[in-house]
Amino acid sequence: MATASAGEDGTSRTIYRACPLCEATCGIAVEVAVDVDGSGHAVAVRGDDEDPLGRGYICPKAHGLIGLQEDPDRLRHPVRRVDGQWLEIGWDEAFELVGRRLREIRESSGPGALSAYVGNPTVHDLGATVYMPALLRSLGSKKRFTASSVDQLPKMLSCAALFGGSLSIPIPDIDRTQHLLMLGANPMASNGSLMTAPDMRGRLRALRERGGRLIVVDPRRSETARIADEHLFIRPGTDALFLFSLVHTLFDEQLVALGPLEQYVRGIEEVRELSRDFSPEATAPATGIQADDTRRLAREFGAASKAACYGRVGTCTQAFGTVSSWLIDVVNVLTGNLDRPGGVLFPRAATSPGVAKPGPGSPVAHARWRSSVRGLPESFGELPVAALSEEIDSAGDARIRALVTLAGNPVLSTPNGARLARALESLDFMVSVDLYVNETTRFADVILPPTTPLERPHYDLAFSGLAIRNVAKFSPTVLDPPAGGWDQWKIIAELAGCVNGVGADVVDDLVLGALLSSCVGAPETACPDVSQEQARKALGDKRGPERLLDLMLRAGPYGDRFDGARGGLSLAALQASPHGIDLGPLASRIPEVIATESGAIELAPPLLVADVPRLRAALDCGARAHHELLLIGRRHVRSNNSWMHNIHSLAKGPERCTLLVHPDDATRLGLQDAKTARIRSRVGEVVAPVAVSSEVMPGVVSLPHGYGHDAPGTRMETARLHAGVNANLLSDEEQIDQPSGNSVLSGIPVEVSPV
Ligand code: SF4
Repeated sequence: MATASAGEDGTSRTIYRACPLCEATCGIAVEVAVDVDGSGHAVAVRGDDEDPLGRGYICPKAHGLIGLQEDPDRLRHPVRRVDGQWLEIGWDEAFELVGRRLREIRESSGPGALSAYVGNPTVHDLGATVYMPALLRSLGSKKRFTASSVDQLPKMLSCAALFGGSLSIPIPDIDRTQHLLMLGANPMASNGSLMTAPDMRGRLRALRERGGRLIVVDPRRSETARIADEHLFIRPGTDALFLFSLVHTLFDEQLVALGPLEQYVRGIEEVRELSRDFSPEATAPATGIQADDTRRLAREFGAASKAACYGRVGTCTQAFGTVSSWLIDVVNVLTGNLDRPGGVLFPRAATSPGVAKPGPGSPVAHARWRSSVRGLPESFGELPVAALSEEIDSAGDARIRALVTLAGNPVLSTPNGARLARALESLDFMVSVDLYVNETTRFADVILPPTTPLERPHYDLAFSGLAIRNVAKFSPTVLDPPAGGWDQWKIIAELAGCVNGVGADVVDDLVLGALLSSCVGAPETACPDVSQEQARKALGDKRGPERLLDLMLRAGPYGDRFDGARGGLSLAALQASPHGIDLGPLASRIPEVIATESGAIELAPPLLVADVPRLRAALDCGARAHHELLLIGRRHVRSNNSWMHNIHSLAKGPERCTLLVHPDDATRLGLQDAKTARIRSRVGEVVAPVAVSSEVMPGVVSLPHGYGHDAPGTRMETARLHAGVNANLLSDEEQIDQPSGNSVLSGIPVEVSPV
């Protein structure tokens, strides 16, 4: 749906939608110039001042949507690799080949020989999000991998253990809190992660203007740390020790005050006992944070009228990621800040189930099966990606022989990229859904390119459940897709079908049928008095994700329940509100949100308690290992993982892929600014330019991730000009967070020497 801009003369139009490039989901206005043949091309992107969440904010990446649209390197047709050359083929030929090869391999070697890797951009597309589970099911394999186990699985696992849902993640109430304690996060560059919050600069400024405080704990004085009231360096990988010391102090100084939450919480005394060994004095040698500072921070947090503790990528991508994620919420619970305005709250998304299911929930979906080689546990239906290489190259008869990748570049984003590249090269068959021939998809036999984000409709299913305010916004198609272009949902549905010899329509019917069963016509659904036939009729017969979205909205907590007279949300209501609909600030949701087996918040869940002895052992090791140089990552506001590096407007500018080294370490190691250094880890080595800076703490070096675009066989010429080095040639697939199996990508021991 296009919305005409005021005063337009018929040669341009403005379309409002959400930016699909990162978790912030900023509202944007895309100006489209209409060509003489009636088609259009996007000419400008600006912030939408009337967007209820973003309020007009955008970052430089939003303009990259046009760069992506016009990128000559972007694939526009399916391609097949023959003798090292990419040949354009038709969609029918592509799916005939893909279906045949996947079926052959499954028939000869069993369903475990098939696998899938789902990359991060998948969740930024409505169609991919709703049809991807059907594809994974159709493969029939338990060897599934996603980008979740790159950087967020620990948080999902800890939330499932505490609250009963992997996506029941409490979000900081940024706009009302008075005290924000942040670990391992840099929202000034990311605009939030597992916290959808556009314009973090403005929001953090507002926090300080109303007298609130921002405290950042991070091994690097990041962009966020620079604007904080206080920044403390912490030794990489020791957040769990620091957090346990906060918990210890809260108990020690009688600062525990759960308030009304107490009736819903179990395990408080057990947490008190567990925290005894982690006094601030005991953890200080490992963390590098003085005991007095830790006690003061605990007191300040406990005394704040409204406080939120938040941790992100750095707290997940370490050896104690799940324990760190758990302890962040323990701090919030013990101080009464969970489920309190100004503390941390659970969003209520417009597409979440419209009825709460009272009573005990299910056990945590964890370790129901394990990987073949190392026995790493499954979580929520997927295996940790740290196991992907070995499941291809070392699992014998149980090995993965065919791989489907969706919008992912695991050679750059997962540990030991060199080993993974070799493993991918050895596959019997690989098919990728992707816009580019990149460092991963160069190994595919077939690449299926979807239409671009501007050529398809969108709704943020995932991020509206992680947002700092409840909002609902539908993003219409901005540009007509080219003739013969396929939307991502259709490619994925066709892939799911071709594995079993059926078409995309059959898959679409199955997906709709399953969703109808959970939304209407049964007593436990939100619409018990609406039959499936009535709902089908009301939804119409247009295939694809919009029909499914309409169903979720109408049966959701703000939905019209298929009763026009009742009012409420539907797809039509959102289409009539192009800027989005504000559903209000986050509000308390306990007890309805608790879905643990016991029906209580499990503050000391066995899964987490079992990992505490390992943490206790790290108290000693952490202090002893101070002679080691540890590598951490970082992110730039113009970059988002690896996939926008081929857009000239984002890639240009000063060299970003540099190794930050503290001046003391530079002197000790003989490193000079702007000269190159060799960085070695157990699994690999790279050479990168040095930037000497006191931004990192002594003993820590930093390289951004997502680079390394000089691999042979790729087709991303702009990225190649700004190639950088792949930091994940250094990360070690053997190093994991034990409960989740999540990769350790931060705090990698390295040796650095001048070249
Ligand atoms: S922060 Fe930038 S990339 Fe992310 S949604 Fe907003 S405009 Fe898009």
